[in-house]
Amino acid sequence: MGSRARLTERLDGALDRLYLTNGPLVREFEEKLAEVAGVGHCVAVCNATVGLQVAARAAGIRGGDEIIVPAFTWVATAAALDWIGIVPVFCDADERTGNLDPSEVEALIGPRTRGIMGVHVFGYPCAMDELTDIADRHGLPLLFDAAHAIGCTYKGRPVGGFGAAEVYSFHATKFVNSFEGGAIVTRDAEFAERCRELRNFGITASGEIRSGGTNAKMNEAAAAMGLTSLEVMDELMDINTLNHRRYEKGLEGLTGVRVRGQAEGERANHQYLVIEIDASAAGIHRDEVHAALGAQNVLSRRYFHPSCHQVEPYRSDPARHAPRPLPRAEALAERVLALPTGSAVGPSEIDKVCDIVRRCVSARTPAR
Ligand SMILES: *Cc1c(COP(=O)(O)O)cnc(C)c1O
Repeated sequence: MGSRARLTERLDGALDRLYLTNGPLVREFEEKLAEVAGVGHCVAVCNATVGLQVAARAAGIRGGDEIIVPAFTWVATAAALDWIGIVPVFCDADERTGNLDPSEVEALIGPRTRGIMGVHVFGYPCAMDELTDIADRHGLPLLFDAAHAIGCTYKGRPVGGFGAAEVYSFHATKFVNSFEGGAIVTRDAEFAERCRELRNFGITASGEIRSGGTNAKMNEAAAAMGLTSLEVMDELMDINTLNHRRYEKGLEGLTGVRVRGQAEGERANHQYLVIEIDASAAGIHRDEVHAALGAQNVLSRRYFHPSCHQVEPYRSDPARHAPRPLPRAEALAERVLALPTGSAVGPSEIDKVCDIVRRCVSARTPAR
């Protein structure tokens, strides 16, 4: 969370100014975020779900249009679009990264496709070069849901500076938090201006209403928390990196279990510590390990299970939402398990968690 004293100081400032929303703290937060993303423009919003809607509208995507999204992501990616009538069309995952498989993206492009939205799942950056090339060749806007990826890099450049725009989330459980919040970051000044209008009921800088907007504004208390949280981002990244290493060591050599890595040579926030359990090799299904951890008061999460196309309203209309098979997204959804990490989790806790996983897997692994 960052320093509580710094937070209350900022909140007191907002109360003294009687400036409660979309004010100086939001502006300051936006400037800092633009720096983190290495871009010229940032538009803070009340949450990333609404941020994705604003970004899609700013990119000219309308109700009835189709947009290609990954099947393996948190359901908010698809729900944000579906809620405003945009049709999410699910794309299969690249086995290793969990992200959009570029060749599948290309195969899904049809006459009603109006955009592509990648998600940097667990902070692993999408195949930006390949996706940018596909989007350019087909004249489609490329957007990124960067809810997991603040602070991460792709070929040394910060995630946040790719495509038409990227959207960060600052939900309480995310790597940087503002209680609830999000931000659209972009290199394109005009795109940012459209987002600012759409964020505030469609009101332009000169005061007219040019387009049907929404209320996506961030409030000052959220910005105060966001600024305070951002101050400890690097520190938290170091802690999470150490945690990741300790989990790797702790689970090394365990048959059928793999700690998901990050892109080679890139900066990663390790917001999520995710293991994959291959039931046939390990002799035990992920759900049983999840239950065994739960029985010992260890909270693990089946992120992301089920795959998006397997939940309503998408499941009932596969012709519309899943025109091609999604075997790798489905397989990943059966294997992944997010384990505790972050600054509240120390080495001895990690050792205990690894021990529980080790014990329940070794007891079941088929002899070789
Ligand atoms: C958390 C999350 C969102 C939604 O963010 P909110 O700020 O909670 O609206 C969107 N996409 C992904 C991948 C997420 O993990």
